[in-house]
Amino acid sequence: MNAKASFSFEIFPPRKSDSIDKIYTTLEQLKDLKPDFISVTFGAGGSINSQNTLDIASLVQDRYKTASIVHLPCIHQNKAQITSILNECKKRGLRKILALRGDIVEGKEKSVDFAYASDLVRFIKEQGDFEIYVACYPEKHNEALNFTEDIHYLKEKVDAGANTLLTQLFFDNEDFYRFKEYCDIANIKAEIKAGIMPIANKRQVLKITSMCKAKIPPKFAKILNKYEHNDKAMIDAGIAYAIDQIVDLLTNGVSGIHLYTMNNAYVAKKVFEATHSLFEA
Ligand code: FAD
Repeated sequence: MNAKASFSFEIFPPRKSDSIDKIYTTLEQLKDLKPDFISVTFGAGGSINSQNTLDIASLVQDRYKTASIVHLPCIHQNKAQITSILNECKKRGLRKILALRGDIVEGKEKSVDFAYASDLVRFIKEQGDFEIYVACYPEKHNEALNFTEDIHYLKEKVDAGANTLLTQLFFDNEDFYRFKEYCDIANIKAEIKAGIMPIANKRQVLKITSMCKAKIPPKFAKILNKYEHNDKAMIDAGIAYAIDQIVDLLTNGVSGIHLYTMNNAYVAKKVFEATHSLFEA
């Protein structure tokens, strides 16, 4: 019998202009959903300040008794900086790391120590007892020439010591199933958790997909166009679309759903309420 699929969330630290209290409110609301883990982003968009990420990851673990994953990008950090963050993680009992290359900030000096996430995975392995997660891309990473190349490098990350893969968001489950087949062919045995983002507005989806190059299927494009000027309808349609994806993924035996919450606890709750019995089934 298959193990129960996991249900987890991604959250991000508040932006500089926002109060830290905002994330406490979100976490208070998410805690009742009892996720299997919560991952906390770090420097998405390029800022290098680990403090907020580690503080929030500690809070998730210590106050809400929920496992937390620390996102750790390496492309603008050297070994000394990464070592210091890992030491801080050890001190706080944070043992789950999502090892990432990270978003490249134009004009900012690149690391002399790390070029790819696989370099970081190898380095973390040497630093002690961490559970390592890595990112993967059902539509391939936007810089990769083709799937063959991308899957080859994904396998390198797994062989270096990653146990679990978290996917980039996608809106067409067929892309996920094809990607899983490629992983099977490449003998990638790590668990793959599907990253699903319920979309709350058209501007948000266009911004995100232009950054990560995830495609918008025609069915989803129609929804965006029809409801873009009606906030409530857009949120409801985004939730329904995500639920539809999740039902299909669970029915087809996915090992977990990782919800990109965008710190929106209302949306996470709605998705949870509609699908939680399926995770138990
Ligand atoms: P890599 O695995 O290093 O791959 C990057 C590219 O290089 C790919 O095209 C790959 O095919 C290629 N490649 C890999 N190894 C080699 C090699 N040895 N030789 C030649 N080419 C190679 N970014 C943040 O800054 N902060 C975050 O918190 C964050 N969280 C994320 C969470 C998830 C679940 C995902 C999917 C992405 C996240 N990102 C985050 C974005 C991520 O950093 C970017 O997508 C980045 O462009 C690639 O990171 P990676 O770890 O997948 O890179």
